[in-house]
Amino acid sequence: MTLNRFLKEKRPGISKLAESADCTEKETEDGTKPAGTAEEREAKTPARQEKMHVKPAPFRSLIKSMTFSNSRLDCFEQCPFKFKLKYIDKIKPEIGKGIEAYMGTVVHATLEKLYKDMLYQKLNSLEDLITYYKEQWESNWDDNIVIVKEEYTPENYRKMGEEYIRTYYERFKPFDQDKTLGLEVRIDVNIGPNGEYTVMGYIDRLSQPEEGVYEIHDYKTSIKPKTQDELEADRQLALYALAIRQKYPDAKKVRQVWHFLAQDKHMVVEKGVDDLKKLEEETVRLIKKIEEESEFPHKGSALCGWCEYRDRCPDFKHEHKLSKMEPNEFLNEPGVKLVDRYAELMAEKKKAEDELKARFDTELEKIKQAMMKLAEKEGLRVIMGSENRATLWSKECYRFPGRKDPGREDLEKIIRQAGLWDEVSSLDTFSLSKLLDNPPPDWPTPIVEAIRAMATKERLERVYLSDKK
Ligand code: SF4
Repeated sequence: MTLNRFLKEKRPGISKLAESADCTEKETEDGTKPAGTAEEREAKTPARQEKMHVKPAPFRSLIKSMTFSNSRLDCFEQCPFKFKLKYIDKIKPEIGKGIEAYMGTVVHATLEKLYKDMLYQKLNSLEDLITYYKEQWESNWDDNIVIVKEEYTPENYRKMGEEYIRTYYERFKPFDQDKTLGLEVRIDVNIGPNGEYTVMGYIDRLSQPEEGVYEIHDYKTSIKPKTQDELEADRQLALYALAIRQKYPDAKKVRQVWHFLAQDKHMVVEKGVDDLKKLEEETVRLIKKIEEESEFPHKGSALCGWCEYRDRCPDFKHEHKLSKMEPNEFLNEPGVKLVDRYAELMAEKKKAEDELKARFDTELEKIKQAMMKLAEKEGLRVIMGSENRATLWSKECYRFPGRKDPGREDLEKIIRQAGLWDEVSSLDTFSLSKLLDNPPPDWPTPIVEAIRAMATKERLERVYLSDKK
């Protein structure tokens, strides 16, 4: 795909930019066409790479030898910086894990015991199971466990897990819906054209309700269940399904079963071979992206509160350092002093600017009205001063909703539907720059690099102040 075509298809608003780009195919001296597109060949030259800001992938060989798991892939998607600390630098976190994860581990261990004992023809009573759960909770408790939602106590979480087990037990007893084939079953699935990548994982429970049918059970202890669409798109259990199909040739059907214990909701997805193939390709693309990563930028999200690397994260390490200080030590900390002074000056500046602006605006408006009156009375468009001339202009104009105002979406829809978008829109270079930092997966690399090559890199420095809460 050429840059012209790409820009037209992906961003109609930037098509004018594409028209000036030279993307023509050139031939070699002997008249034969060199391999690859012009952009691809050009992108490979070292000088060009430097200009395009292409960085070598320093961890490629290390990552190539890595066995992936869905958690690792999720981790990279959530935050590449966290992925690097955890799986490349292998840094042991000083911050403990969240209590939600702890509760999940104890609930999983309890359900594992339930089904494991059944393999030995022992059916635990509900009370036996709850006793086991409580013992596990107590004996594995660690004071480093973090409670992000400070309004809840460890006891609240312990009771939640207990309730999940009760509800599950009551719903499925006497647990004869299927035959358990294994618990915490390790799977290794080979993916890629030559099976060159291995993804491993553990299935909470693998069962067989009937000949040729396999079920992959996954227990979820989160408060929020997923929608059917989200489960259809889920990578983890689909990879496990792929592994089961590779391992058991008699598998006619492989079902992915999620047990959302908090809601007593049990949801099933059954993927066909084509869907699994698509998922495999997407996963290979993601692994290749990880191999090529050179910067591992940090990426904040709602999950940062639970991140065990906040003490190393550029967004949180200062806050973490301050959380360990006494109040007077805190106020003398150099960073705190700088930000406090900066905020103070900004507030003073804003106040002074507002006052000055209000004074000038009132005065200017008064004079403007007087000039308009004079112009109307004497039929003038230009009024002369001693050094300046004032040209008066007035016109009724349309005012449209801004980008965030209500009605903006409808306005854009009407313009797009009328096919007028290209005529009234212009290139949003800020959005383009943001997209280039993390190009969407369907943007071909040569095109991304060609756009990058048209830009110069400069460091902008801004300080944004906001309230702490
Ligand atoms: S806290 Fe920092 S390192 Fe952790 S996930 Fe958030 S951005 Fe990434």
